[in-house]
Amino acid sequence: MNLCITDVVLDGVVGGIRCADGRITDLGPGVQPGPDDEIVTGRGLTAVPGLVNGHGHAAMTLLRGYGDDLPLMEWLQTRIWPAEGRMTGDDIYWGTRLACIEMIRSGTTRFWDMYWYHADVARAVVDAGMRAVPSQVIVSMEGAPPEARIDGAAEGLEHLASFGPLISPSLGPHAVYTVSEADLRRVAELAAERQVPVQIHCSETEGEVRDCVAEHGCRPAEYLDRVGLLGPRTVLAHGVWLDEAELALVAERGATVVTNPVSNMKLAVGRAFLYPAARAAGVAVGIGTDGAASNNSLDLIGELKHLALLQKHAHGDPSVMPSGEAWAIATGVCAPLLGGSPLAVGAPADFSLVDAEATGLLPAALVDALVYSGTGAVVQTVVIDGRIVMHDRVVEGEHEVRERARAAAHRLREES
Ligand SMILES: [Zn+2]
Repeated sequence: MNLCITDVVLDGVVGGIRCADGRITDLGPGVQPGPDDEIVTGRGLTAVPGLVNGHGHAAMTLLRGYGDDLPLMEWLQTRIWPAEGRMTGDDIYWGTRLACIEMIRSGTTRFWDMYWYHADVARAVVDAGMRAVPSQVIVSMEGAPPEARIDGAAEGLEHLASFGPLISPSLGPHAVYTVSEADLRRVAELAAERQVPVQIHCSETEGEVRDCVAEHGCRPAEYLDRVGLLGPRTVLAHGVWLDEAELALVAERGATVVTNPVSNMKLAVGRAFLYPAARAAGVAVGIGTDGAASNNSLDLIGELKHLALLQKHAHGDPSVMPSGEAWAIATGVCAPLLGGSPLAVGAPADFSLVDAEATGLLPAALVDALVYSGTGAVVQTVVIDGRIVMHDRVVEGEHEVRERARAAAHRLREES
């Protein structure tokens, strides 16, 4: 069925948005619903493009608030890894469903994900009506689960592709310090052969850079380039410690960096991503929340204030990362690979209706208001693939998802 949003503000003018077959077919003043359209009034609301969460581990919602404030290694070893070791595919499903609802409620329409049990991730995304880029995770370390071995990666990609158009398969080698050089090379070959993106953690901590130099004689971006993994289909999560020469190389190869400001600050990685240098070099930049265990929120609108403020503060310059740039990063405009959708005829119908008149936003201009004063709470209605997934802040099935996720989280923590 076709969908028509009426009386909604678009670029400051009241108009309509018609969607059919998952795409925007008409928009602007004078757009009227057809005879058989599902009609949703947008009165008092403003349409904005869907946001793209460029890096995360959705099912980690189950571990939100578990071991907060511990030093990184102690947190991983005593909390996160043991709990993850107990997770079943069903846990991942409900954790991901919970994450999807949280993201929908804050205007995210598409997300990139790196977690075990990709099939359960994909199933949850499809059931939630979202779009995502789940990954076949690859880890070479001793004791890694069999499903994370490179040998099964091609099969994993095919399985992900079977979930339909909302799911874009990708490869997710965890990081240069958890995946062997031989496996990284095989990931590069497979990604080239299947033309799929690769998401990898890169230069999150200084220690990781030091270890890379000691082991491979070069910094992480140079090492990824050497193994054939730095290219236009590569997404580097974090990139905090990439230096200027690496950023120039990343730009030259056309790879994308996804910055995760809140996670980086919470885990105290000790520096801010060199955004001014990345921007000057022409690096494609996106934003992610990372997992809910290290954020602890998946609200990308709330994340934008941190993004802008961290950059200004770290570089001692309030003109760094103006609101318009932060918004462009969140909507995927600054990194085409991430797959943002503009509000335009022919584009995928992925957008939100926000209450731009909300107390706390007035009387700032829309983008300034959303970046510096907004949270996901201003999002009223969300459309993904031409379907309403939240209407007037109601997401169907939310109660069951909350209860199932709560039960799973409780069990995972009790057993520790
Ligand atoms: Zn991560």
